[in-house]
Amino acid sequence: MTASRSSSPVFPTGGAALGLPEDAAAQTRMVHGATLRSGFDETAEAVFMNSGYVYGSAEEAEAAFDGTHARYVYSRFRNPTIQMFEDRLALLEGAEACRATASGMAAVFGALACQLQAGDRLVAARALFGSCSWIAGELLPKWGVVTEFVDGTDLTAWEQALATPARVVLLETPSNPGLELIDLEAVCALAHKAGAVVVVDNVFATPMLQHPLQLGADVVVYSATKHIDGQGRCLGGAILGTKAFIEEVCGPFLRHTGPTLSPFNAWTLLKGLETLALRVERHCANAVALARHLEGKPGVARVLHPDLESHPQYALAQKQMSGGGSVLAIDFAGGKDAAFRFLNALRVVKISNNLGDAKSLACHPATTTHQRLTAEEKAIQGIGPGLLRLSVGLEDIADLIADVDRGLAAL
Ligand SMILES: *Cc1c(COP(=O)(O)O)cnc(C)c1O
Repeated sequence: MTASRSSSPVFPTGGAALGLPEDAAAQTRMVHGATLRSGFDETAEAVFMNSGYVYGSAEEAEAAFDGTHARYVYSRFRNPTIQMFEDRLALLEGAEACRATASGMAAVFGALACQLQAGDRLVAARALFGSCSWIAGELLPKWGVVTEFVDGTDLTAWEQALATPARVVLLETPSNPGLELIDLEAVCALAHKAGAVVVVDNVFATPMLQHPLQLGADVVVYSATKHIDGQGRCLGGAILGTKAFIEEVCGPFLRHTGPTLSPFNAWTLLKGLETLALRVERHCANAVALARHLEGKPGVARVLHPDLESHPQYALAQKQMSGGGSVLAIDFAGGKDAAFRFLNALRVVKISNNLGDAKSLACHPATTTHQRLTAEEKAIQGIGPGLLRLSVGLEDIADLIADVDRGLAAL
């Protein structure tokens, strides 16, 4: 890319322009891929912190607007720094295209709202992130969308719900905080027979551990706030899918409604992608080690992590994920009192409802993230009074083990 106006680029793609080998591996692409180097030859990607763009002539402005000359016109539509993040994430996901959003919820809402209309059916897994379940269960029905929730782990329930045509299927696997898995291949096949577009919230798996598009999903959404940033700095989200879906269905919705990511946050997330593989590897190793350490300890009724042989869907985890992720759940026999004692005794792990961070973070879903649910809904989703969610960070594992031992001693 050059800084000269006369050769204004037509949304260049970085990898090829930089001479990156076609067969460069994922980690190499996460460091170099999709870079749009400006005429100043900077090493790190530039932050294009601008809202608008200038034209060399009235004719050029006209051509930009009638679509004969594809170029940047306004940062609500496209921006080079945001585009670098989108294109690099698309390379990692193996998606044809990507659009970034200001938060994970803007991505989930955009991916649904851009394709649903009054009268359409939405079939969703019951165990969804709180705000996703509000959109599916409360907001969209007010707009005439008929939502049906199913137990995501029950293929017969999916089969029954998808015996009637549906427009969209929404699911999250592993789920939050119960770490339930959904068989992506099986559900995608059923959904496609019902004519539905499958949207997968892949936050817990991260782009490193599970590839929903390869298992039949049509659209993948992320809260980039979680592992993609992974260092507690900013909010962000992304929607990935085919070029046709992103450019023709999703693009106009985002362009006109404006849930745009800040270029600065896009830059932060772009740098996050450079280290994502390394971080996720350590997150997983620490999470499994901690889960194994906690399993069977006095006062611990159950530890849930997809990589534990005791996980009810261990075989499915082995089949569709290359690692179980950074989050584990602990069910304390002593209920809320035990969970609170454990939390209050921790010195390294912080009490926070965030996850996917370098810092280990723990929370009590029943009284925080999932407080809004009725007692019956909590019971269905396995969110008991003794359940604690632990997002395992990048600290030294010996310190984390010492910390949970402090918590156990306080039971
Ligand atoms: C955090 C999260 C979201 C929402 O993302 P924000 O960036 O907070 O808007 C959606 N789905 C899942 C599974 C999440 O963990």
